[in-house]
Amino acid sequence: MNIVLLGPPGAGRGTQAALLEKKYRIPKISTGDIFQKELWHESDLGKKIRGPVKSGQMLPDALVNHLVFHQMQSTDCSRGFVLDGYPRTVTQAQALDHHLAATKQPLHLVLLLELDASILTDRLAYRRVCPKGHGEWNIRLRPSKLGNQCEVCKATLVQREDDNPQSIRNRLLMYAKNIESLKKYYGGRDLIRAVDAQGSPDETTQRIEAALREVPAVAESKHFKQPG
Ligand SMILES: [Zn+2]
Repeated sequence: MNIVLLGPPGAGRGTQAALLEKKYRIPKISTGDIFQKELWHESDLGKKIRGPVKSGQMLPDALVNHLVFHQMQSTDCSRGFVLDGYPRTVTQAQALDHHLAATKQPLHLVLLLELDASILTDRLAYRRVCPKGHGEWNIRLRPSKLGNQCEVCKATLVQREDDNPQSIRNRLLMYAKNIESLKKYYGGRDLIRAVDAQGSPDETTQRIEAALREVPAVAESKHFKQPG
């Protein structure tokens, strides 16, 4: 099944995408992970995007599209995919449609995590991530079982460079500015389902699975009936 997971920064997209990845064995393709990796490795691209990422500016659509499609092509998406945090703009959504049409992949569902803006700032400020991309934890809400270490590789958890107050403000503003047109874009094709993301990650997961069951193409797919 091919899923787009949208929602504001701090809504728990990364956590939910990781759960979907594990349960249905569909790769999670996350713009956040892609950028963090480039920053961590201090690649040429990483050096170029450090400034904009740190201050919470959006990167150019063409660059983001290129990185996401490259990742999709170099990943085994035969069972599907979950796109986490992409597309962010209607221009990106149009590019994704072209890419999917060209590679003969349908889009089954767009999930939109919704929650109160006031909660988001806290979630972002206390977020810590594995620098190698194994996931994210929250020192208040969902700490790592190993304290300040990644539960997978034991690397010391770090704060993302864009989880600073100014960047958080910018990203929330940017999200608010773009989400309405994205809702219209996908709503016109009846592809989008809103999911209440307040409360615990488990509650959100249950609501996501209920939303998945309502989509015939997803519910009938053998990957959904027999999760990996
Ligand atoms: Zn790790």
